[in-house]
Amino acid sequence: MVTGEVRLWKMTRRMVREALDAGRIKGAILPTGSTEQHNEHLAMEHDTASTLHIACQAALELYPRVVVATPIGVGLSEHWMEFRGTLTLKPDTFFAMAFDICESLKRHGIEHIFICNGHAGNSPLGKQMEDFRQRLGIDVRFASYWQAYDEDFVKQHMESGDCPAHAAEFETSMALAAFPGNVHWDGVNLEGVDLQISNERYAPRDPLYFEAARDLATPGKGRVMLDAATRWVVAQMREMMGE
Ligand SMILES: [Zn+2]
Repeated sequence: MVTGEVRLWKMTRRMVREALDAGRIKGAILPTGSTEQHNEHLAMEHDTASTLHIACQAALELYPRVVVATPIGVGLSEHWMEFRGTLTLKPDTFFAMAFDICESLKRHGIEHIFICNGHAGNSPLGKQMEDFRQRLGIDVRFASYWQAYDEDFVKQHMESGDCPAHAAEFETSMALAAFPGNVHWDGVNLEGVDLQISNERYAPRDPLYFEAARDLATPGKGRVMLDAATRWVVAQMREMMGE
C-alpha cells in the first residue's frame, strides 16, 4: 500500500496542483467538530479530534483519491455555554463557513464532498445539504460518523449501550485509543463545581456518563469503534465517487 499526505493544509500548492492536474484527487472529506465541554475529564477538542482522526484514516485508505479539508473546529454549542471554555458559532456563521469551504474545493475541481460530522449539535447542517447541492451543483453530503453503527453493533461493543452519548464510554474509549493525552483523570472529582452548574437543565445525565467513562472506557473498545467508523466513511466516499 502506497500512502502519502492526505491533509490538505499540510500539502504545498505544488503537491495539490500536481495531484489535481493528474486527476488523482476525486473527493474531499470536511470534518466538522466542536470546542466544547466534555465533562470533567475529556479535552474540549474531542469532537474535532475524533472526526479528524476518522477522516484521515479513511482518506489514507483511499489514497490518493481523497483529501481531508481543514476541519471546522468550532460548531453549534450554545447549549453548553454555561460550562466555561466552550466556544460556539451562530448557526448562520457555521453554515456559511461550511459552504465557503465546499465552494473553495469546488473551484479547484473537487466535486464529491463528504462532510464528516463529530458533534451531534451540528446536525442542523445536514438540513442545508439540498441548498448546498443546488447552489454548488456538486455532490455534497453530510453525516455524523456514528451513523456507521447500528443498534446491535453498539450493544455488542459498548457495555453502557450508549452511543454517542456525551464524553461517556464511547468518546472516552476513542480518545484512549487515538489521543490518550486528551484524557485527564488526575484531580477529577465527581462533585466538581462545573458539573453541577446546569445539571438540571442541560446535563442531568452527566454523572451517569461520567461513571460510564471512568468505569467502562478502554482503548480496545475505542479502536473497534474508530475502525468501524473509518470503514463506513470509506464506503460512503467510494459510493460518492462511483467506485
Ligand atoms: Zn463529543
